[in-house]
Amino acid sequence: MTVSTAGMRSAGMRPAGMRPAGMRPAYMRSACMPQHHVHCFIPPHMLKEIAERGSPAQRDRALKTLLVSEQLRGQREALTGLPGLATRALAVGKQRNVYDAENGSTLPGRLVRAEDAAATGDLAVDEAYDGSGATYDLYHDVYERNSIDNAGMRLDSSVHYQQGYDNAFWDGQQMVYGDGDEDLPETERLFNRFTIALDIIAHELTHGVTQYEAKLAYWDQSGALNESISDVFGSLVRQRALGQTAAEADWIIGAGLFTPRVNGVGIRSMKAPGTAYDDPVLGKDPQPAHMRDYKQVDYDNGGVHINSGIPNHAFYVVARELGGNAWEKAGRIWYVALRDRLEARSDFAAAARITHSLAGELFGAGSLEQQAVRTGWTEVGISVEGGDTGNGKAGCLGAPAAALATLLWPLGGPRGQVG
Ligand SMILES: [Zn+2]
Repeated sequence: MTVSTAGMRSAGMRPAGMRPAGMRPAYMRSACMPQHHVHCFIPPHMLKEIAERGSPAQRDRALKTLLVSEQLRGQREALTGLPGLATRALAVGKQRNVYDAENGSTLPGRLVRAEDAAATGDLAVDEAYDGSGATYDLYHDVYERNSIDNAGMRLDSSVHYQQGYDNAFWDGQQMVYGDGDEDLPETERLFNRFTIALDIIAHELTHGVTQYEAKLAYWDQSGALNESISDVFGSLVRQRALGQTAAEADWIIGAGLFTPRVNGVGIRSMKAPGTAYDDPVLGKDPQPAHMRDYKQVDYDNGGVHINSGIPNHAFYVVARELGGNAWEKAGRIWYVALRDRLEARSDFAAAARITHSLAGELFGAGSLEQQAVRTGWTEVGISVEGGDTGNGKAGCLGAPAAALATLLWPLGGPRGQVG
């Protein structure tokens, strides 16, 4: 089954090779971009596979999810520049509100659970509450960070967003979760509710942390780093909640999200990128684990959910080398890099240099920690001295693209270091 070109275009996708001369790449216009602060969990390549290979119901579902993302983009554009709408709720200590969108599109919806209120019995409500709490706890207890913005921002979540919405996203102010395919017949279900996986919750909230810190531009290598950092802290929140060491953890992102009908263990694998799923409807996990396999693609903002496999695997190797709890040493190096050193247009080579240098500052020059960071990046084909050792072209940002990035990235630009 194939998707019509018109359908793909209206869903923010464009077949390769159809870009009119002079136009921005299609991925620059896709919905899940930080200009609009909408970060969707399910990558467009996966929805496209479902739209092409799935049953009529699955296909309709995937196209609808893509179209909703486009509509969200429109709403965010309409809100841009209206003062007072982007108010943030400030709080002291951990404050969570969970709302029920009641299968509609109005956010946040009806407040159903506030901080310290008892469990409601609605699984999605209680998972959103517990998951945002576990995320707050990692950042607070381990890295001394006070919520997403480090200023006590209340963690708001809306569940039961729309009907049959196969995604979850951070919209710049709050978390939003769909119910997956829970309304489809059992035989056609691919996705469970999106609150089912703690690391999905932490992944999305970490997009908020990145929004307040490094502000990594959401395309090409900086976008793949943005995605990778969400996977890193998503996985660390889950590992800490489960009390798992680096050796005990499965390093799968989104475990539990697929129904048993899908041949896959999750959306991504940090331990073995490219092996998370291989399914007749979803296709095969496209992630590379090494720079020689870096994918230059014209969709998914230049493959931000694909090439994130490379820095994901580097982090995994660092954690494996160090052993013990990954959030204590490897996580601290990555957190300080995110908070103090990475910038909007940092690429993989910059991340390698920064984390290697930080490991020396935090744990000592030549320390086991610093050696582990070198090993991690070396295993994915990147030298901590600068430059990759695989596909030499992958890190290049041509002058026209650099100029475009400046125009398109209102929050971007180098930022001062935070002490
Ligand atoms: Zn993401």
